[in-house]
Amino acid sequence: MTASGRRAVRPAHILRCAMICGSFLGPASAGLYDGRYAGDQVIRMIPHSYEEVQFLRRLFENLRADLWQPNAASLIRQDGAVDVHVGRGAAQELKGRLRGAHIGHRVLISNLQMEVENQSGSRSSRSRRSEFQHNYEVYHPLEEIQNWMFEMNRTHPHLVHMFSIGRSFEGRPLYVLQLGKRAQPRKKAVWIDCGAHAREWIGPAFCQWFVREALTSYHMRRLLTQLSFYVMPVFNVDGYVFSWTTDRFWRKTRSKNGRFKCWGVDINRNWRVKWCDEGASSHPCDDTYCGPYPESEPEVKAVAKFLRKHRKRIKAYISIHAYAQMLLYPYSYKYATIPNFSCVEDTAHKAVMALYSAYRERYRYGPASTTLYVSSGSSMDWAYRNGIPYAFAFELRDTGHYGFLLPESLIRPTCTETMRAVNTIASRLLRKCPH
Ligand SMILES: [Zn+2]
Repeated sequence: MTASGRRAVRPAHILRCAMICGSFLGPASAGLYDGRYAGDQVIRMIPHSYEEVQFLRRLFENLRADLWQPNAASLIRQDGAVDVHVGRGAAQELKGRLRGAHIGHRVLISNLQMEVENQSGSRSSRSRRSEFQHNYEVYHPLEEIQNWMFEMNRTHPHLVHMFSIGRSFEGRPLYVLQLGKRAQPRKKAVWIDCGAHAREWIGPAFCQWFVREALTSYHMRRLLTQLSFYVMPVFNVDGYVFSWTTDRFWRKTRSKNGRFKCWGVDINRNWRVKWCDEGASSHPCDDTYCGPYPESEPEVKAVAKFLRKHRKRIKAYISIHAYAQMLLYPYSYKYATIPNFSCVEDTAHKAVMALYSAYRERYRYGPASTTLYVSSGSSMDWAYRNGIPYAFAFELRDTGHYGFLLPESLIRPTCTETMRAVNTIASRLLRKCPH
């Protein structure tokens, strides 16, 4: 894809942390994130013809807007929902243009600031973390997640091993928890990463939930005797911190681009697999920016190095994202069928059925290219190309009602059902694929 002329989505200035961090202290402040989302809206439209697709693509390449779904104007396609976050003024302009083009729309979130505050509603009334118990049903900032990791490591010396695989652009350690008895170093392993995209907070919440379940449930404890899990609760640590302090809807890393005033690279477009081709942008201001070269991001480089080193043992790669309610497998970058399609397809089908059995939530599943959209340079395709036979990406709840602002009250059902799907995939690795 060539560089688009789209303007920077974000204002170039950064609010001072003292001001932002202060806003978390109590209801007397101007609101979370200094009230910057007051009056902003999230609007959904669905183009039903080629002409409407072209109209929306042109529109969002020029309008100051933050696309939630899909992640770039070039990825808009016929009959696919387009969710966009627009500022106060831009919302009216957008609605006017849509009316002019006879394209229907629906307001998903009418006051984004209120929804941001609602998502964190329990913050004041419920204890986020007592000395004895980590609360798995609230969203945690990075420091709390890392403290919890140290605590897991300290209290489960025979089952948990915590280590760092490198450092982020801003110098934060990239921590991973290895789960499983250490006595058998050569057993099969599963890699799970969460929080590749900063604003998808349900991801890190799931990784924490997964670790707790793995250490406490009977079924999982048994699984741990035969499998190891590598769990990376927050892949994009710098972006995650930024989404807590400054911009709730930040997606990319926080690396600097020399010539531009835009920051960050899309962690899921930066891998050396058909890098920066269809579905990725070469413009640093875009949300799907592929970076100056493959593995330019220290976070991607560190995970790629680790996976390469352990690829003989790692039989499944699982990346947790949101939102869309989908279970995706390769390829992302092309429409071809993978060689072990029947095994992977059957596993995905069973995983989605297991997920459905919990709360009757429907997930679509299939190759990412046809189920979601074509995108190049993704971690899933890279893992598959590097010999990991089961590579999946989850898009967790919901389908757009709350979008990235999934309330804390939905952490439990979302994680419970996702556990069933991940369990199904993990158990599958222990059996020979019948096909
Ligand atoms: Zn994502």
